[in-house]
Amino acid sequence: MSEPYFRTGPGPVQISREAIQGRVRELGQRISQDYGSEPLHAICVLNGAFPFMADLVRNISRPLTVDFLSVSSYGSRTESSGEVRLVKDLDQSLKGKHVLLVEDIIDTGLTMQYLLGYLQGRAPHSVRVASLLSKPSRRLVEVPIHYLGFEIEDAYVYGYGLDIDHEYRNLPFVTSLRPGEGEA
Ligand code: 5GP
Repeated sequence: MSEPYFRTGPGPVQISREAIQGRVRELGQRISQDYGSEPLHAICVLNGAFPFMADLVRNISRPLTVDFLSVSSYGSRTESSGEVRLVKDLDQSLKGKHVLLVEDIIDTGLTMQYLLGYLQGRAPHSVRVASLLSKPSRRLVEVPIHYLGFEIEDAYVYGYGLDIDHEYRNLPFVTSLRPGEGEA
């Protein structure tokens, strides 16, 4: 599959490897500055956020710890039902920690709303959200995004952690073009 260039809409969304890596570097620098010497606890929302998490934490020049959780939301691939279920819980306590929740994409916002409620119940010192992508036109509930990679149009995207039926998570770029579409 050919490497796409940079376009967040209208039309197909295509975010190249270079654009992603550049933006992740910027976000890492901002996070490093914002937290100063405070230790950070980064939580990756599996499965989709794993490449973003791995690249982001390597661009944060501050002491940090990591943990992982996994949720599944009921509903079809394109329509979230808003019912979210915790599939893998955190291993470490959040008490008194500065938590950075790392997500792949915020669509309706329902998953993030659930996650924020869940984390707040575990007595962290603070919680901030980093999301690679956001589709604001799809939002059903408002959720904070402190560190955002890219705002995109309403399109189903995949690559860089995001899947189509569990495939394509290993692509180093993000695209909404169907596999094979748009190739010479
Ligand atoms: P929300 O609860 O905000 O509607 O949905 C969040 C979750 O839906 C994301 O973590 C992701 O798993 C999935 N999702 C939403 N939009 C897309 C998309 O365009 N592509 C893929 N692969 N997953 C998406």
